[in-house]
Amino acid sequence: MTLAVLPLAQISLDDPDWTLLRNLGIGLVVVLWLATAYWTFKDARRRIRDPWLVGLATLVGLFPPFLGPIVYMFFRPPEYIQDARERELEIQAMEERLAQLDLRCPVCRAKVEPSYLVCPVCTTRLKSACPSCGQPVDSLWQVCPYCATDIPPGLPSLDDVRTERR
Ligand SMILES: [Zn+2]
Ligand SMILES: [Zn+2]
Repeated sequence: MTLAVLPLAQISLDDPDWTLLRNLGIGLVVVLWLATAYWTFKDARRRIRDPWLVGLATLVGLFPPFLGPIVYMFFRPPEYIQDARERELEIQAMEERLAQLDLRCPVCRAKVEPSYLVCPVCTTRLKSACPSCGQPVDSLWQVCPYCATDIPPGLPSLDDVRTERR
């Protein structure tokens, strides 16, 4: 008789093994809940600059449990702060490169094109022309890139129109 009752007693809630199992289950859910909240905090920190908003996002990640992180995902900024910063740096570098292309006359500072031989404002000679095809050539060039004619070394040139940063 006692042997027949034993299996039933094991399923009873008073049984220590059952309580342990239930506590383990609750513990697992709590750990999972905290993990999702922590993920929300970590993700918010990478996307949001304002620490108060990061705190708010973390609260949403905590409450309501499990649903909060999903709600957060709908409203989070689409971009990481680091990516935004890298993009800003890229734009800055591009602007600097454009500024370097901004050629100016060394005498009057008027804007000139790389193809100009003479400054149209103050008539300063900027570049020499190829003796064969008349294209503007650099003083360092030994051969004309347009017509492949050798450029005599003594050709007068004034192409120190250097880049000027803003
Ligand atoms: Zn000029
Ligand atoms: Zn030429």
